Amino acid sequence: MTRQMQMIDIEGTLEEHGFRKTPLRLLLLEVLAHASIPLPVSVLQRKTKKAGADTATIYRALHAFVEADIVTALTVDKTKVLYELNRPETHLHHIVCDSCNTVESISFCVRSIDQQVVKQSRQFKKVHSHQLAFIGTCRKCLRAVR
Ligand SMILES: [Zn+2]
Ligand SMILES: [Zn+2]
Repeated sequence: MTRQMQMIDIEGTLEEHGFRKTPLRLLLLEVLAHASIPLPVSVLQRKTKKAGADTATIYRALHAFVEADIVTALTVDKTKVLYELNRPETHLHHIVCDSCNTVESISFCVRSIDQQVVKQSRQFKKVHSHQLAFIGTCRKCLRAVR
């Protein structure tokens, strides 16, 4: 599957949100900007090794990015979270295998439901984004349990 990778202005993004441009933050965003699928912390840690940050620091940086809406955290289960850069212009949903973390992007979107959500809501007039992940079992894992 090929997908046009939208490059982001990494330094500009950090500045815009008032983040200091530490080697870790720059590397994390660079890795996430080049990733075509959401990545677990273990992979991010390996790919940002030269920044010399420990796991806690990486989690803190990611958490700050999520709070700033630069990154989306995709929760597979209590112990598995995958991170991806927010790209509103290439809005995609994902299906994740909860056994092996295989991730596939899917173009299916629930945008049509946004209006129904507004209709059902008593206090909201507008939905401007949504998050939705599908968790399942990939073919390989399904074969393995048989
Ligand atoms: Zn699997
Ligand atoms: Zn959607």
